[in-house]
Amino acid sequence: MRAGNIVQRTQTRVPHPVLGDMNYEHEFAQWQDLGGGTHNSVAVEFANFVAVIEVPLDERRSLAVIDKIVELVPDKPIRYLVNTHDHYDHLGGLRTYLHVGATILTHQRNRMFYEAELLNYVPRMLEPDMVSLYPPTEISEGYTMEDVDEKYILGDGRRYLEIYYVQGLGIHVEGMLMAYLPEERILIEADLYDPGLLPASRARPTAAETALLDNVTQNEIDPLLIAPIHGDAVTWKAFLRETRQGH
Ligand SMILES: [Zn+2]
Repeated sequence: MRAGNIVQRTQTRVPHPVLGDMNYEHEFAQWQDLGGGTHNSVAVEFANFVAVIEVPLDERRSLAVIDKIVELVPDKPIRYLVNTHDHYDHLGGLRTYLHVGATILTHQRNRMFYEAELLNYVPRMLEPDMVSLYPPTEISEGYTMEDVDEKYILGDGRRYLEIYYVQGLGIHVEGMLMAYLPEERILIEADLYDPGLLPASRARPTAAETALLDNVTQNEIDPLLIAPIHGDAVTWKAFLRETRQGH
């Protein structure tokens, strides 16, 4: 503790939703209250299956989302899980979706990290999750993931979900994906633009906001709406206006 009763350093072992039992040592320079309702998941219904984009935070949240999906679409399996990038707050439910039988779609850059650290049988003693308690056979058989390179399309002949690699984000994150429903013209993105959550005082556009527009332009897609992983849905026009980017 230091002046003001603010914790300066902690060391403990914690059950981590991504990495399992983890030796946790942290120097706190700055506190941030993340509050609740910080992340969204997006479920897309196809003729015979459901695809989910993003599994934030932890297993408890993921099970609540899965319950909701089963309530809304009771007769179709969740067959695909699209993970946009490798930040920990976006990974906590990967093992949960693996356990319900979903194939994980992520950029090829993320595969080695996920296979080595997440999608394995290393026992989690402190807070055992479903994979720890009831190990699925998929992991040993190697059917857990599919790589996305530049573009990947999920579809059933009527509805399509296009998944794109987001280029030009070297500093923030490598291996970022965004998803697009071409019929509905809805773009799903994480961390590139967080509507309503960014300080109005920031220099606009940010590098990530520029990258979002660049990637939309390069891929010749034409969204009407952004369904963000952080924040509320907004129109594409509002995004252009708010980030001071014109056509
Ligand atoms: Zn995020």
